[in-house]
Amino acid sequence: MNNLAILCVDDETIILDSFTEQLRRNLGKTCEIEAAQSGKEALELIEELQGEGLEIALVVSDQIMPGMKGDELLRKIHDLYPKTLKIMLTGEADAQALGKAVNEANLYRYIAKPWDETDLILTVKEALRSYSQEQQLAEQNQELKKLNVQLEQLNASLEQKVVDRTLELQKAALAAEVANKAKSVFLANMSHELRSPLNSILGFAQLLMRSSTLDPKDKDNVEIISRSGEHLLTLINNVLDLSKIEAGRTVLNEINFDLRQLLEDLEQMFRLKAEDKGLQLVFDLPVDLPQYVRTDEVKLRQCLINLLNNAIKFTSEGGVSVRVRKQKATTAELGNSQQEISYLGDRKVPETIDLPAKRICAACLFLEFEIEDTGAGIPAVEIDTIFEAFTQIKSQNKYQEGTGLGLAITRSFIQLMGGEIAVKSEVGNGTIFSFDVAVSSVDAAEVETKQQMRREIGLEANQPRYRILIVDDKWDNRQLLIRLLSSLNFELKEASNGTEAVDIWEVWQPHLIWMDVRMPVMDGCEATRKIRFQESQKQGEFAIDRTAIIAITASTFEEERSLILEAGCDDFVRKPFRDKIIFEKMAEFIGVRYIYEEEPLQLAAAVSAEPVSEFSLSQDLSTMPQEWIEEMYEAAQSIDNEKILQLISQIPPARDSLGQTLKDWASIFRCDRIIDLIESAN
Ligand code: ADP
Repeated sequence: MNNLAILCVDDETIILDSFTEQLRRNLGKTCEIEAAQSGKEALELIEELQGEGLEIALVVSDQIMPGMKGDELLRKIHDLYPKTLKIMLTGEADAQALGKAVNEANLYRYIAKPWDETDLILTVKEALRSYSQEQQLAEQNQELKKLNVQLEQLNASLEQKVVDRTLELQKAALAAEVANKAKSVFLANMSHELRSPLNSILGFAQLLMRSSTLDPKDKDNVEIISRSGEHLLTLINNVLDLSKIEAGRTVLNEINFDLRQLLEDLEQMFRLKAEDKGLQLVFDLPVDLPQYVRTDEVKLRQCLINLLNNAIKFTSEGGVSVRVRKQKATTAELGNSQQEISYLGDRKVPETIDLPAKRICAACLFLEFEIEDTGAGIPAVEIDTIFEAFTQIKSQNKYQEGTGLGLAITRSFIQLMGGEIAVKSEVGNGTIFSFDVAVSSVDAAEVETKQQMRREIGLEANQPRYRILIVDDKWDNRQLLIRLLSSLNFELKEASNGTEAVDIWEVWQPHLIWMDVRMPVMDGCEATRKIRFQESQKQGEFAIDRTAIIAITASTFEEERSLILEAGCDDFVRKPFRDKIIFEKMAEFIGVRYIYEEEPLQLAAAVSAEPVSEFSLSQDLSTMPQEWIEEMYEAAQSIDNEKILQLISQIPPARDSLGQTLKDWASIFRCDRIIDLIESAN
C-alpha cells in the first residue's frame, strides 16, 4: 500500500494548527498530516500529494469557510477520489450541509467543535483502519476478479478444446465411415473383378472336362486348372468372408444335407494329403450319428477343412483324428437352457475344454466335433490369440504359409451356427480343437441325393425350341454360357449391354434372359426394369409371355440381391456358377426338361429312332461342299456346338438323316464321332 496521508482543511489558522498538531502527535508515525486553509487549496494539495505518490486516506474539513464550503469540497473530493474517507468538522449543527455531505460525498463521520482530542484520535484511527480494510478488500476483490477472468478464459479455452475435439472426432468418425464405405465398394468391386475371370477359368475347365475328345493326360491338366481355380476361389472367399464378418453381413444359409456324405468326402479329400506326410487319418463316427441334418453345410464344411488343413499342416508324425458326437438336449430342459448331454463313444470331453453355454434352438441337437493332432502344439502364451485374424504362431515360422485368417473365420462361422470353439494344446504333444454346432435332424426325403445330381446331357423330346438371351459385357463370360447351352440345343442370342438386351428382347421375345448385373451403357437392373415396364404396357394390348430374367452377379453383398429382385429379376445366380445351377434354374423358371447321363433308355429315345448306317452318312456327307466339311471338322475339334448347329442348319432337307444324326451326336457331346465320320469319308 502507498504512504497514507490525512488532509485537514480549515480557514481558521489556530484551529487548523491545533488540529493538525494533535493528529501529528498521535498518528504522525503511520501517516503524513497535511493542512490546507481553503477548499481550493485543498484540492490543489491533494493533486500534488497524489503526484508525489501519497494516498489521501482521509480529509477532515471545516464546514463554514469563505469561498468553497466544506460540504461542497467534500462532494468534489468524492467525485474525484471516491475511496477517500471524509469527516466534517463543524461548530454549528448545520443539518442541511450535513445531509448534503452524507448524501453526495458519502460522509464518514461528523465531529463537533470544540472536539475532544481522544475522541478525535479514536475516530480518525477508526477511519484509517476502515480505509485500510476497504483497500485490502478492494485489492482482494481485484485479485478475485483477475482470477475470475483467468477462470473464464480457461473455461472458454476448455470449451473450445471440447468443441475442437468433438469436431475432430466427428471428422474422424466421418472419415472412418467413408473409409468403411470405400472398403465395401472396393471389396464389392474386387469381388466382381476377381470372380469374373475365375468364372471363365472354372467354367471352361468344367466344359472341357465334359468333353469326350479330351485325352486322359489333357483331362488331368484341366483338372489341375480346375483345382487351382477352386483354391484361388477359396482364398478370395476367405478374405471376403472375413470382411463380411467384420461388416456384420454374414448370414446363415441352412440346407438339408447328408452329414455322413460330407464327412466321407472330407476323409477322402484329406486321406492323400495325410498319407503323403506319412500321417494316419482316423474318422471316428458313432453308429447313431444322424445321417441327414440341417444347418449351413458350406460353413460347416469350411470350418472342418480349415481345422483339418491346420492339423495336417502342423503335424509331422503320428496322425490326425476326427471325432463327431451327438449331444442331445432334452425337451424338458429346453426351458431353462440346461441340457442333458449324452456322449456317445468312449471318450469324455477333456475337462480343460470349456464347453460354452449353448444357444438352445428348436433343433434340440448339437453335434460336437473334435479334431485332434499329434503335431507341434501351440505355446500357452499364444493360445488366446490364435483366433484373432492374421495371427500366426511365431515359433512356427517354418510353416508360415496361409493367411492367419482360417481360425478367425472358423470361430465366427461356428458362433453363427449356434456353437463355440475351444482349443487345448501342449507344445510337442499336439492340439485338440473342439466345437459344436446346432443342427436339426431331417428325413432322407428332404435331402437332395446324388441321384438328383446327375449330369444333363440333352433335352427331352417334345419341348419348344427355347430362346435364351445371354447378356454380359465380357465376351468370355458370354462364351461360357453359349458353349454350355448350345450343347443342349437351345436357340441363343447374345447382348453386350442392357440397351442391346432390351432391343433384342423386343423383337425376339426370349423365354429366358441370363442377365449380368454390372455392365457399361446400361446395367442389368436397369434393363430388367425397362423390360418389365414394357411387358406391363403390352399386356394391355395383347397377351405376351413373360420372359424369365435371372441375374448373374459376382457380388457377394446382400444389398445387391434385393436390388436385383426389386428391379424385376426372378432370381439370381452367383459367379462363379456351376453348370448344374444354370440347368436347374432353367428347369425351374421355364420348365426345361433334360435327359441325364446314366439314363440309357431315354438317351436312346433322344437319338434317332432308326440309326443311320455309316455308309449312307458318308454318302450324304460327300454331297456337302468341301468348305462346309472343313468348317464342320474344325467346329467339332473345338467343341463349338453353336457353330456345329449353325452348319447343320445349312444341310438341305433331302439330307435330313445326316443333319439329325449330327445334331444327336452334338447334343450328347460326341464331337469325336463327327470327326471320325469326316476323317473316314476322306
Ligand atoms: P493359417 O493356418 O492360414 O496361418 P489359421 O487362422 O488357420 O491361419 O491359424 C493361425 C495359426 O494358429 C497358424 O498359423 C498356426 O500358427 C496356429 N495353428 C492353427 N492350428 C494349429 C494346429 N493344429 N497345431 C499347431 N498350430 C496351429
